[in-house]
Amino acid sequence: MTDSLASDHFDLVVIGAGPAGEKGAAQAAYFGKRVCIVERAPKPGGAMVNSGTVPSKTLRETAMYFSGFRQRGVYGVDLRVKPGITVGDFMQRERNVIETEWELIDENIQRHHITTIQGTARFVDARTLEVTRYGTTTRRLTADAFLVATGARPEPPVGFALDDEVVVDSDFLLMLQRIPASMIVIGGGVIGCEYACTFAALGTRVTLINERGRLLSHLDHDVTDALRRLMTARLNVTVYGNATIRTVEVAGRRAAVTLTDGTIIAADLVLVATGRIGNSASLGLEALGVRMDARSFVQVDANHRTAVPGIYAAGDVIGFPALASSGMEQARVAVCHAFDLRYKRAVSSVLPYTVWTIPELATVGASEESLLAAGIPFEVGRSSYRNNARGQILGDVDGFVKLVFDPATQRVLGVTIVGESACELIHVGMTVIALEGTLDFFIQAAFGVPSLGEVYKYAAYDGLQQLLRRQARLRTPAHAEPLTDVRN
Ligand SMILES: Cc1cc2nc3c(=O)[nH]c(=O)nc-3n(C[C@H](O)[C@H](O)[C@H](O)COP(=O)(O)OP(=O)(O)OC[C@H]3O[C@@H](n4cnc5c(N)ncnc54)[C@H](O)[C@@H]3O)c2cc1C
Repeated sequence: MTDSLASDHFDLVVIGAGPAGEKGAAQAAYFGKRVCIVERAPKPGGAMVNSGTVPSKTLRETAMYFSGFRQRGVYGVDLRVKPGITVGDFMQRERNVIETEWELIDENIQRHHITTIQGTARFVDARTLEVTRYGTTTRRLTADAFLVATGARPEPPVGFALDDEVVVDSDFLLMLQRIPASMIVIGGGVIGCEYACTFAALGTRVTLINERGRLLSHLDHDVTDALRRLMTARLNVTVYGNATIRTVEVAGRRAAVTLTDGTIIAADLVLVATGRIGNSASLGLEALGVRMDARSFVQVDANHRTAVPGIYAAGDVIGFPALASSGMEQARVAVCHAFDLRYKRAVSSVLPYTVWTIPELATVGASEESLLAAGIPFEVGRSSYRNNARGQILGDVDGFVKLVFDPATQRVLGVTIVGESACELIHVGMTVIALEGTLDFFIQAAFGVPSLGEVYKYAAYDGLQQLLRRQARLRTPAHAEPLTDVRN
């Protein structure tokens, strides 16, 4: 980032050039506001570009390619990672993608005539920000509004320490110079599950230790059970659920994790992925009256206002769902509110949740368990990739889609997909839910053949069949038309 300062007063000062900061800044600048971004890192992009979303997904894609994972078993040959492949081979692609992302962000910032300052920001008062670089205060900036978009970082483990060599967090993982032969992942959340799958595809022997009984425990049982089954069957990942760690000890270049039940697991590398905390502690926010929770996440209202007028917050620094996609939208909403721009008033309530495990997993809208807990009636329609020509061609016959819908109106309430391209396919379901569509959309639509999209149609047929069965059980008149072509 380059310093390009004209004056020290701005309409908006954004702290952090991650996805939330960039998009919030661009939104205000698009509407003619004078905007400045302060970023402490030499390059923009935050966790999304530099240590999280983009590198981890690039590494996954590279692992899928080098391991021939998508073709395993399909052509009767076993394509494992070729011997002699180095970390450099994997990381080259990642570097190319990251450098292009930096260029794209810089172009966006320049196109919107946004001023950028490199340094660490801290509030002096509710209208003044101090920027320091190499320990020296370089500027004082004032603004009509501030957007705090400083992100989050891995939470340090309790009871043992990282050594950034054998015991690492997700920020250090990508600096590895070697592909470990064995690896222990501590944490069964999104980051833990994704990296467990990626490294297992690379040929690493992975053991995942989860303190909860289920992986991704906020999702439906059948979904997380399927993920665990497939991770074990396809990738040989060993999963310990309901496991508590007693010690993590390093000896030479290996680590041993001892569980409270006495089990000892040794590996070349331990990845600690047990959660993240907000980057808010050193901003001087508390002294101004901005509220933070125990995990340093800034508390905001629906308009992304903090308790202090003129100071907004968006992205990972406010906590859940802590996704790049939601952070960008939150920032746009915050900025529109700050300048009374009648453009974007709320973040869509229909947010896709995409998990890049192997297989992919994606969900949008309501889950079965959330509807059960809320006492809302629902019915479920399912279909399998096994019954789909494209699924057969790709060799992914374990994938499935699950539609959750209102039995009275057949309105689609939620969609979950496990399998190849789930993170793309989910946007069809997202659109139907956002437009308040019913199963009839899928019944009437003509999907390309062979395509995975067709799984929606057969899940809708299955849903109608489930309704018929329910109506038969209740001795009410069945659906007027006979159902044909139900392949599930
Ligand atoms: C391994 C991993 C995988 C992920 N995968 C996905 C995914 O697949 N999909 C998805 O949507 N999300 C994913 N995420 C989450 C995603 O990366 C974050 O949600 C997103 O980056 C948050 O954006 P942000 O702008 O809020 O914060 P960040 O991206 O963290 O950016 C914050 C910026 O603020 C700067 N900053 C902090 N404090 C100061 C200060 N005092 N002064 C100046 N600058 C400061 C930081 O240097 C940083 O550049 C993943 C995260 C990780 C770690």
